[in-house]
Amino acid sequence: MKNEQICSMVKDLTPIYYSNQTSAFTKETVDEHLSQCEECNVYYKAFQQNKMAATEEIAKEKTNFFAKAAVRMRNRKRKQFMLITGLMLAFFICWNSTFKNTIMVSSSMEPTIGMSQHCLINKLAYTFQKPQSGDIVYHWADDISGYDMNRIVGVPGDTILIENGVLYVDNEVFEEYKGKIVKTNSSVESYSITLNEGEYFVMGDNVENSYDSRLYGAILEDDIQGKFMLKYKWRNWFVQSEIRSTDDVEGNEE
Ligand SMILES: [Zn+2]
Repeated sequence: MKNEQICSMVKDLTPIYYSNQTSAFTKETVDEHLSQCEECNVYYKAFQQNKMAATEEIAKEKTNFFAKAAVRMRNRKRKQFMLITGLMLAFFICWNSTFKNTIMVSSSMEPTIGMSQHCLINKLAYTFQKPQSGDIVYHWADDISGYDMNRIVGVPGDTILIENGVLYVDNEVFEEYKGKIVKTNSSVESYSITLNEGEYFVMGDNVENSYDSRLYGAILEDDIQGKFMLKYKWRNWFVQSEIRSTDDVEGNEE
């Protein structure tokens, strides 16, 4: 074989020789030729450098791709985090401006609301409407310097009369407390009050043992912070809210 022919053959074989895919015999032949032929040697070195540069380029591209993907992933995670945090904050603000959790501090609303009962108060209940007779409200009571829960017995304009153990509102027996013995605030036989604008007369369902408007007088509309919604057991917040008793309360309003 002429030298030129061998050179051309070696050049043709270069790619598979470079990637070690030749037979042992061919490899030996090419090795031998490369050790003797300057031209093929130069050609092979150039090929080798090209290949290495290309491999590096691919590696660099791969690295770039993964780096960009990581940045994208990080940005997406950051956005998700911000979104979730924002939603939680919005929910918290909405929840807080709408509801209040409270614990009944006295036995004055028994049996409707027991002592130490956890209750949910709707703070927006009276945004668009006035408190109604029969509503159980969460209100400030100056007399005890604290919040209390009581049922509204009289609204502005109503005349309350307690006589011989019976509670009358505008001369009609108050339906809720029919059959209960309603006492006055002291030993007097008869007690009467007419409510002015913005005044509400509140009483505890435990009428025989309740500290309420009979003792501290009417409360003001501004003192009413919300409407009792439901009782709940805090341990089983989502499982076992005592809806039944709330239904009773709701039923009483109609
Ligand atoms: Zn050659």
